Amino acid sequence: MDFRKALLARIDSKRGALIALTQDLIKIPTLNPPGEFYRDICDYLDTRLSARGFSTELVRAFGTPGDSKKYPRWNIIARYEGGSAGDCVHFNSHIDVVTVGQGWSVDPFGGALIDGKIYGRGACDMKGGLATSIIAAEAFLEIWPAFNGAIEISGTADEETGGFGGVAYLSEKGYFSPEKVQHVIIPEPLHKDRVCLGHRGVFWAEIETHGRIAHGSMPFLGDCAVRHMGAVLAEMETSLFPALAAKRTDMPVIPEGAKQSTMNINSLHGGQAEPEAGFTGLPSPVVPDHCKMIVDRRFLLEENIADVEAELRGVLEKVKSERADFTYDFTPIHSVIPTMTAKDAPIVTTVSAAIEAVMHKKAEYVVSPGTYDQKHIDRIGRMKNCIAYGPGILDLAHQPDEYIEVADMLDSAKVMGLALAELLTGNPDDT
Ligand SMILES: [Zn+2]
Repeated sequence: MDFRKALLARIDSKRGALIALTQDLIKIPTLNPPGEFYRDICDYLDTRLSARGFSTELVRAFGTPGDSKKYPRWNIIARYEGGSAGDCVHFNSHIDVVTVGQGWSVDPFGGALIDGKIYGRGACDMKGGLATSIIAAEAFLEIWPAFNGAIEISGTADEETGGFGGVAYLSEKGYFSPEKVQHVIIPEPLHKDRVCLGHRGVFWAEIETHGRIAHGSMPFLGDCAVRHMGAVLAEMETSLFPALAAKRTDMPVIPEGAKQSTMNINSLHGGQAEPEAGFTGLPSPVVPDHCKMIVDRRFLLEENIADVEAELRGVLEKVKSERADFTYDFTPIHSVIPTMTAKDAPIVTTVSAAIEAVMHKKAEYVVSPGTYDQKHIDRIGRMKNCIAYGPGILDLAHQPDEYIEVADMLDSAKVMGLALAELLTGNPDDT
């Protein structure tokens, strides 16, 4: 008997189950923020996976950002032990979805199936990927009930807001550690024929310029913090942005525009606060005494975080040297080191070979422009054998009318199933 062929046929036979599972997951509106219905989706997954012989654990990330009595940060980890010792392959999916936004033509939590596509918030990012990994594991277990090692499936909270109540917490508690888990696949929507090796780095900082309040009719008696910030912006345009655009990486980052260093100005606030909606009065004439900017700098494997910070401080020092009465505060508020799994890591070579077997084309290696939960698995969990691989089109994530194609999910389930066969059975072609 050709077990591989049997596995692929078994996955095809689960098309209906895959659709139903994806729809059920979409119908639980796990919006984050604030982090709604986490317990409900964990209970749903618990029922589903317990019935298939997984032992499950629900873990609340007490005290993490956003965790409260009203919005508890629940996670589920399910584990299935094979018949003998071996590696553990872990599929990690986040259970949260971002806000709906406007422009939908279908119910964002309806899970409508139209022309082979399932629609809904989280369809591609990433309830479709979660359903795909569950179906792949279930089909594998039916074909190889006595495999070597273990399979784990987790549904984790808060990826969209940094993952602190999800994978970061679980990594700190030892759920992601080299002793317990040897291979990690995160089924984010990077496309069914791509292996995502990692992500760029992040450095966020708050810059504040200071001034002195005075009457707006006599600004020369005060000192305008917004004009000082204008000088910072001008210096960024002159020196910093061109310097960032000139830095290129050897990381295979997609899309093309992210193959360089980038910086976004997240926000800029100076002077009086915006009036409340409905207030019809005029603002008062005062010179702004403070102005704050948040910058979001994304950096490359080839860059060092200390240099990234020094470069930004350099802009401020240059302005200070040229401008009377210029004072500022510079406060780093968040950072993530870039990560990239080696192309010869076992999970990379295994999934690449499976993509070639299913799709009859070579796998493409990519790196994500933004971060995802691999950052915690890498840094806190100390695990380098980790990739993102899953069905769906990344560009559709967070958009109106987000969808996932059923055919893509089936192809990805086959890739995941073959990867399990390669990693967890002695010789998949044994009769
Ligand atoms: Zn995602």
